[in-house]
Amino acid sequence: MKRKKFILPEGQMPTRWYNMVADMPHAPRPYLNARTHKPTTMADLSIILAEELARQELSTERYIEIPEEVQQIYRIWRPAPLVRATGLEKALDTPAKIFFKNEGVSPVGSHKPNSAVPQAYYNHKQGIRRLTTETGAGQWGSALAFAGRHFGLDVEVYMVRVSYDQKPYRRLMMNTWGAQCFSSPTTKSEAGRAALARDPHCMGSLGLAISEAVEMALREPDTTRYCLGSVMNHVLLHQTITGEEAILQMEMADAEPDVVIGCIGGGSNFGGIAFPFLRKKFCEGKAIRVVAVEPESCPKLTRGHFEYDYGDMSGYTPMIPMYTLGHEFQPSAIHAGGLRYHGAGAIISQLLHDQAIEAVAVPQTETMQAGILFARTEGIIPAPESTHAIAAAIREAEQAKREGSEKTILFNLSGHGTIDLYAYEQLLAGNLRDDRPTDEEIARTVERLEKLM
Ligand SMILES: *Cc1c(COP(=O)(O)O)cnc(C)c1O
Repeated sequence: MKRKKFILPEGQMPTRWYNMVADMPHAPRPYLNARTHKPTTMADLSIILAEELARQELSTERYIEIPEEVQQIYRIWRPAPLVRATGLEKALDTPAKIFFKNEGVSPVGSHKPNSAVPQAYYNHKQGIRRLTTETGAGQWGSALAFAGRHFGLDVEVYMVRVSYDQKPYRRLMMNTWGAQCFSSPTTKSEAGRAALARDPHCMGSLGLAISEAVEMALREPDTTRYCLGSVMNHVLLHQTITGEEAILQMEMADAEPDVVIGCIGGGSNFGGIAFPFLRKKFCEGKAIRVVAVEPESCPKLTRGHFEYDYGDMSGYTPMIPMYTLGHEFQPSAIHAGGLRYHGAGAIISQLLHDQAIEAVAVPQTETMQAGILFARTEGIIPAPESTHAIAAAIREAEQAKREGSEKTILFNLSGHGTIDLYAYEQLLAGNLRDDRPTDEEIARTVERLEKLM
């Protein structure tokens, strides 16, 4: 009998997050203050973030304890199951073993609350009353709405317009948890008004929505802070609960991954599953390949440049050393809204630069077809973002078949797609297009970056 799923007892949920910075071959370069171009300080960061989050952002400690209050909320859905994709293996007729970590079991439907909960907690502890944030596909906004509710915080979400129009249900989830949600660009902020003046039909972008959310937080420094759903070190730190659980569960399955795969927007679900396994690679010499999967329409890792860039469009965030397409890059309106981000977090970018991880870009139709196959073999309808990881896992399994190798594949199923059925409707109707930016399009926004490395 092939065991199907590996469930950790609640009492064995890991109680600390892992900080990748402690074990990297080369630490990432520091963030730079956008005005002075000097390394960012605690003081710079704590203007926009809760102090404890700013501290974690700069921390080099290997492990950070998960507060009991945060663990308590995690236990609503954690530990999350590790599942053997026996149905998918059979359909592919592959000798490979395929496992996935199911982060779609959270109330929000994705991995995002792993960081939303501690972010809300540390802000509440500091006496902050209101949080602002951006959201792409609506996953992060709903995660922060869910998390903020537990600590009685007001939550204001700026949602990228293309998703606001395509995905009304996530907005309704946010409203249900008591948050306010606006279609970005709005006329509330200067960044939004400027974008609308340039193009009244502007469909928005994550970078622009971040600018709006930061600007609105900076207006009320006594009561309000900004929260970010990805990219920054503290967010990736919180997500490592996924990989820490997966290590224990792979032991239960008596297996070790040869390759670990995650899709990448800013890098949080990928970092979350990958970092604890990279610790095994760096500290125990395990031969583990780690692969980040991006959409071909937003190829920051495979075609971007390693430069200092802003996390947003208006330059409110520190300058981050990242693989980037330039903060003015406007990806096409693919369904995987959470992957439409111009850059990758500093840790991931440094790891790629050092060739400690790999990156691959996959076209939209291939990912959504992988999603359909997964739904029909494993039952779960995956989020369009997560289908990127599935598509890469399928490529690995097919290669294993050609080579007759029994490799073990682990990927992060970052979320379910039950409220992203519009993407499936488009695929099934034959309406999906593959969009690949030209070299000229990428050069246009990359060339405008200041060369600070
Ligand atoms: C937000 C999101 C992503 C992309 O963000 P990362 O920070 O790169 O993980 C991927 N999958 C799902 C389901 C998401 O909601």
